[in-house]
Amino acid sequence: MGLAITVDDIPANGNKPPDITRLEITQKMLVVFKKHHLSGVYGLINGDKIENSSEGLAVAKEWLNSGQLLGNHSFSHLDLAKSSSKDYIADIQKNDVLLTRLMGNKEYRYFRYPYLSEGNTAQKRDAVRRYLRENHYKIAPVTVDFFEYEWNDAYVRCLKKNDGAAIAWLKQSYLEQALNALTISHTLSMMLFDRDIKNVLLIHVNAFSAERLDELLSAYERNNVYFIPLTDALQDSVYNINPNIIRDRSYTFLNQIRLARGLENPPLVSQLYASLPEDKISKLCC
Ligand SMILES: [Zn+2]
Repeated sequence: MGLAITVDDIPANGNKPPDITRLEITQKMLVVFKKHHLSGVYGLINGDKIENSSEGLAVAKEWLNSGQLLGNHSFSHLDLAKSSSKDYIADIQKNDVLLTRLMGNKEYRYFRYPYLSEGNTAQKRDAVRRYLRENHYKIAPVTVDFFEYEWNDAYVRCLKKNDGAAIAWLKQSYLEQALNALTISHTLSMMLFDRDIKNVLLIHVNAFSAERLDELLSAYERNNVYFIPLTDALQDSVYNINPNIIRDRSYTFLNQIRLARGLENPPLVSQLYASLPEDKISKLCC
């Protein structure tokens, strides 16, 4: 299946081990993208960690210099369910000013909702969508998500405790869940559309994902994934569908369509979601 990679929270996500800088974490990811011949990967930025931080700015510039692209993830990572549409739009705008400076005439008008939340009311959702449309932004949806950021903080704790067995488990379970997320998308896609849609993967710029990225991309390649640009993925006609779902909690695009059609998850999908080891991860190396 075709899969576009997107990386959220540029320049920094989650905790990090003391012996690696944010710039080094980013460089590690960029080297892997090169190795897999990937350019034009969108990193979605939070400007508040770039505008007043020389390291944050260095991360954003390094990303661009290496042939990747930047998009909008709101200036201060606001949650639309917890903010007014007015504040939220102002925050997108603030990030837009910075993106114009960084990206020049390259296309940066892709917006990824923080927490994948489109807000808790139709009014807010529609106000923000209207702003995005009027300002020529495309929404960057997510169809493959395995909550990989949850592994990162556990990894940082386990490194500190020098717990090799726990780290080995984190490494293996990360890949397992990454592959399960593909199966979930494939299964939902077949149920809803009788074909594999063009997918969009969400990961974050953090130490553990940087450590795992080469393995992750190789595992995906072995499972018949080919990587495509986000622009290409969004050409899929499914992204013209408005699922019209209002909910506080985030949900992937395919799940929104499933809910809109009043369908339950297929048993395999429920089983894979239930196998996410969130509890174990949150308690690991504490
Ligand atoms: Zn985010």
